[in-house]
Amino acid sequence: ESAERLAQIRQDFPILARRIGDRPLAYLDNGATSQKPVAVLQAMDDYYRRHNANVHRGVHTLSEEATAQYENARLRVARFINAPSEKQIIFTRGTTEGINLVAQTWGRANLGPGDEVLITEMEHHSNIVPWQILRDQLGFTLRYIPITDEGLLDLDQLSNLLNERTRLVSFIHVSNVLGTVNPVDRLVAAARSVGARVLLDGAQSVPHMPVDVQALDVDFLVFSGHKMCGPTGIGVLYARRELLEEMPPYQGGGDMIREVKMTASKWNSIPYKFEAGTPAIAEAIGLGAAVDYLSQVGMAWIHAHEQALVQYAYSRLSEIEGIHILGPGPEQRSGLIAFTVENIHPHDLSAILDREGVAVRAGHHCAQPIHDRYGIAASARASFYLYNTPEEVDQLAQGLEKAVEIFAL
Ligand code: PMP
Repeated sequence: ESAERLAQIRQDFPILARRIGDRPLAYLDNGATSQKPVAVLQAMDDYYRRHNANVHRGVHTLSEEATAQYENARLRVARFINAPSEKQIIFTRGTTEGINLVAQTWGRANLGPGDEVLITEMEHHSNIVPWQILRDQLGFTLRYIPITDEGLLDLDQLSNLLNERTRLVSFIHVSNVLGTVNPVDRLVAAARSVGARVLLDGAQSVPHMPVDVQALDVDFLVFSGHKMCGPTGIGVLYARRELLEEMPPYQGGGDMIREVKMTASKWNSIPYKFEAGTPAIAEAIGLGAAVDYLSQVGMAWIHAHEQALVQYAYSRLSEIEGIHILGPGPEQRSGLIAFTVENIHPHDLSAILDREGVAVRAGHHCAQPIHDRYGIAASARASFYLYNTPEEVDQLAQGLEKAVEIFAL
């Protein structure tokens, strides 16, 4: 029954029928971006063909339709993460912009010399660099929760790293390199005990498992549409309502104002205060269709499917000669595996796999500190999604065996 379901899901993604040379495509680079189902392509196409107009401006029919579709997408995203209100959903360009928005608005208003921001050694660059830039401007201290040899956060260090000057704990929910699923409840409780706010990077969790912002009790959640069957150029910042009300605007311009005089202006209400200029309308509508699609398949099903795949992949890849898998064992990880193979550069691995039709990513995956931590420059990563199959895991393993043969000569 599950195989039948999987075959049906694959039908929804036209690109999966592609061949790479004479091999069927095995797309295992979902951590970088996911493929798009017909429902999303059609929603965007339909918008441009039949409803295209600017939002929140015209009183003509098309503008009203475009606005209704755009706002309806916000409502569906709110429901998808169980946000109390759609007003707490700010459309951004993606995870990166969401974190920069929080840094430049909440951060600028709340951080100064003597204050501390706590992140982790397993962050994506997008949750490191914005804080470094701001630290250099405002003079607060940036601290890191270290990672253990096994690839877990070293929470024994928490009590040394947190104090009454800690204003924010900002961390990755699921590591895009280690696959580690971090214990949000423990980190939220620790942050609360010193009165710090919590930002959760959900780029690798929201697409793959049920995420409920009220249950997680975080102050900010950011994620990207393109990693969850939606288009590029659209993402989400969720935040607690009172924080959004207090925060100054991010960018100035049209739509974010209530009134503009030559001397001064007044801001629009949330969420519009944070959405200056013409937004990514078609992309938001595409994201709305993507969350509908994911909900229809079922996030619990998607999570269970990926868990089964990653466990199979873990055991299959463990048999490869000279392989080192980064991060924790299969029971503690999300649906991705990063690895190195002795004496073969990850880029060579990736090139050989490509000849077998297998798409994996090679490099530092925007997480250089993790690679430094384990004394390597780069790794290869296979990352799974709802449409991947055990046969594709076999295709990956066979490609790796070939690579080992070629390089052993
Ligand atoms: N955080 C994590 C955990 C990610 O995996 C990514 C994407 N690789 C990002 C942030 C950045 O997302 P985006 O490039 O869509 O802004």
